Amino acid sequence: MRTSARRVLCVLYPDPVAGYPPKYVRNAIPEIDVYANGQTAPTPQGPPGFQPGQLVGCVSGELGLRHYVESLGHELIVTSDVDGPDSVFDRYLPEAEVVISQPFWPAYLTEERISRAKKLKLALTAGVGSDHVDLGAAAQAGITVAEVTGSNSVSVAEHVVMLVLALVRNYLPSHAFSELGGWNIAECVERSYDVEGMHFGTIGAGRIGLAVLRRLKPFGLHLHYTQRHRLDPAIEDELALTFHSDAESLVRTADIVNLQLPLYPSTEYLINDAMFAKMKRGTYLINTARGKLVERDAVVRAVQSGQIAAYAGDVWFPEPAPTGHPWRTMPFNGMTPHMSGTTLSAQARYAAGTLEILQCYFGGTPIREEYLIVDGGRLAGTGSQSYQLT
Ligand code: NDP
Repeated sequence: MRTSARRVLCVLYPDPVAGYPPKYVRNAIPEIDVYANGQTAPTPQGPPGFQPGQLVGCVSGELGLRHYVESLGHELIVTSDVDGPDSVFDRYLPEAEVVISQPFWPAYLTEERISRAKKLKLALTAGVGSDHVDLGAAAQAGITVAEVTGSNSVSVAEHVVMLVLALVRNYLPSHAFSELGGWNIAECVERSYDVEGMHFGTIGAGRIGLAVLRRLKPFGLHLHYTQRHRLDPAIEDELALTFHSDAESLVRTADIVNLQLPLYPSTEYLINDAMFAKMKRGTYLINTARGKLVERDAVVRAVQSGQIAAYAGDVWFPEPAPTGHPWRTMPFNGMTPHMSGTTLSAQARYAAGTLEILQCYFGGTPIREEYLIVDGGRLAGTGSQSYQLT
């Protein structure tokens, strides 16, 4: 191991069990240059070190970064081993100048870990959502926190639309009937409804939440949202949105509630027994934002009692979720591992964005404002709009 090189420590999820690379089912992915809000997709200098559409979010994929990092004479360590003091991550952390981690397989950068990471200057999220970093501790230590804002917003929005339909129409249990050889249509449809005419409410209508609202509009749903700042009146008119001044008001009205707000200290456990009690009986709850926005056991109680008809999403706490986590087996769940924002399409963008941010960092040029979460000892860029330190 070289000790003079600057160290980039990268945590990615493990390879597929059947080996790497997988056999790809498609040859190419569409090119997306600009996002719905006008932000350009990542623009690294030179080729990105991978073919768009490849699985680069796992350990062997290395986000396509090895050639770039080593061409600068720096050291790239890639691991999925993040748990416990003997983990590869903890062993390499004290000498790391850059840590790259993913929300899908987070290397939690706690205050304690930050205190041991004396050389750490940049904590980079390959994806969106930097709550796995103690942002207050990072600010105090002068660490820049950045993420690839917007890179997987549509990926998550499409997943939410899929979950709305899957839950309300009782798709998952009905598919299981078919696989098991059954034909009991009554059992398939006794919990199956049309979404048309229902009330859909999102808590958080930022990049993802708004993309969900736009995609659901043609289904003939009544659309609601709440967040601290109202959207542009033109957007409210275009989508016929009803604004609620708080989450309580929204959950009393909605048939389907979607969580699309960031996790920070005051949003932890926003959805708890008291909030479930305010919902209509049979509400559907979808959470692709963060697991800790809801109280784990309150969800189980609500789904078991029928206060909510079903719960679905892809975010848990902690991640990876323990095998005994009750959301894995509770009734009427549409849970998956944390996958909605790491489609192969999303990976092409967040890996290119990771490279763009590294090029700025090592080249001494400014990181795009929209990628910044913490900089110069305080919340910055997107971070100052999305997060609070307390
Ligand atoms: P944005 O920052 O674009 O939007 C978040 C929205 O939440 C903002 O519009 C903000 O509006 C609102 N908000 C913040 N605090 C509150 C609050 N206390 N109450 C109500 N609304 C609030 O983020 P994205 O849409 O890009 O992402 C949202 C979250 O989704 C991320 O933080 C991340 O946790 C998660 N995510 C999950 C992924 C996955 O793979 N499952 C992938 C990508 C992101 P305002 O400031 O006006 O309150």
